[in-house]
Formats: sequence, structure tokens, C-alpha cells
Amino acid sequence: MTALEPLADGIRVLALRTPTLLPATHTNCYVVGRTGLTVIEPASPWPDEQDRLIEALEADGARVERILLTHHHPDHVGGALALRDALAARGHAAPIVAHATTRDLLVGTVVVDEVISDGDVLRCSGVDLHTLHTPGHAPGHVVLHDRSSGAVVAGDMVAGVGTILIDPFEGDLGHYLDSLERMRGLGASQLLPAHGDAIVHADAILGFYIAHRHQRSTQIQEALRTLGEVDALAIARQVYGAELPDAALPLASIQVTAHLLWLAKHGRAEGQVGGLWRAA
Ligand SMILES: [Zn+2]
Repeated sequence: MTALEPLADGIRVLALRTPTLLPATHTNCYVVGRTGLTVIEPASPWPDEQDRLIEALEADGARVERILLTHHHPDHVGGALALRDALAARGHAAPIVAHATTRDLLVGTVVVDEVISDGDVLRCSGVDLHTLHTPGHAPGHVVLHDRSSGAVVAGDMVAGVGTILIDPFEGDLGHYLDSLERMRGLGASQLLPAHGDAIVHADAILGFYIAHRHQRSTQIQEALRTLGEVDALAIARQVYGAELPDAALPLASIQVTAHLLWLAKHGRAEGQVGGLWRAA
């Protein structure tokens, strides 16, 4: 029998297997509330995993009142419609809730029924979730703060396994750093990431994430000084070379590009024609 695992008063989790970025293999589905449930990220597109979630929710017996998405990525929204349909077939209507930007990014894939904004408080039968809009990894990303237990459902702002990709196509390193700073100000008791185990010592970990990004930016600026005019892939090879297999370098160069754009914004790098960069 699949059961929800308790994490904090009124917050439980079921890790669902998803097509996510390795080394992660699962996305955590958090279930918040006592007599009425908010299901955060019923993420799996695979029917056997969707069935496990339904089984766990039915075993609990409480009614699902809403389905909430932290952001639009496929490894977070893959089972949202399936869960809504399964609940509707049982006579329970549960709206899908997300930030307006997430709703817009999901047009044509998942219909978002209600939008939430920064500062909104979601009442989840005994647990109040305070919404923070935390762009950077994804433009419509939100985290949910339960002030009574101090837990923060953190989505893809931090990871218990693997790293957070900032893809400049839809992400922004400056926004990500600002969002991490906001989260650090919460004094959270634990961060509940979408991938991996709960993270305690929340402020220390958030501080580490911020420092690590600044350190990486400095490394990239130094690589530009050493290499001259180069593209992001050459910088990735220089900066990550020893840490990563060659197959991971294209993804690393996306991450490097996010840092280069941030450095350019701060007058520390200059983009050239043809995707080349140099130190400013
Ligand atoms: Zn994501």
C-alpha cells in the first residue's frame, strides 16, 4: 500500500518517478492539509505513478481541494490533468492553481483554473501557505511558506539531489539570486525541494547557494581573462572540465551563458558577434 510520508504537521510527501534531469529520478509530490488537501505537483506523466498517488490519496480519505504547481516544467506538471480528471470521475472538482506566468507558459498543455500571486495565503485546512513569487529558474516560479512549522515547499529553487539549472531562455540568474535572498529572509525550518530529501539548516544552505553562484561568476570572468574571446562551451570546458563528462558540457554551457549575461549586466563581460564573449 502506497502511503504519504509525514514531514511536518499537516505536510506529507510521496516521491513520484518522473522524466526529470539526472541524477534526480523522482519529483516530490507534497500533500498539505488535514481534512481538505492541497496536492502540490502531481508530477508524473506515467499512469502507474499516477495510480500510486491516487491510491495514497484515497487511503488518506480526505478530499483534494486544489492541485498546485510551483512552475511550468514538464517534470512538475506531468500528472496534473490526470489527477484532476481522476478526481472529477469520483465527483470531486479540484482546480489547478499556479502563478499567472506559469498559466501563460502552459497554454496548450495544462489548463490552469486559478492563479496565485505573491503574498496570497492559501488556506489548507489547518495549514496556511504563504505564496512567494520566486522567478529565476522559471519566470512563474512560486514557493509556499507554512509559517507555523517554518517549512517552505521550494520547488526547483534548491535541490536535495542534483543542481538547479538556470537556462537563460526562460531563467535569469539575477532574479534567481534575488529570490534566494528573499527565501533566506524567511528563517525557514526546512526547505522541501522538488527533487531529493528535505533540507534542514535552510538559511545556511541558501547562503551557500548564493555564494556558490557568485563564486562561479568570478571563475567565469577569470576564464574570460585567460582565454580571450571565446564561446560559452569553451568556458564551460575550462570551468567545469574536470567535474563533468563531455556529454554534460552542452548543458553546462547553458548555465555558463546565464552567468555571462549576469556578468554583462554588471559590466564584467561583453558579448560579441557570433556568440563570443570577452572580459569587460
Ligand atoms: Zn524546473
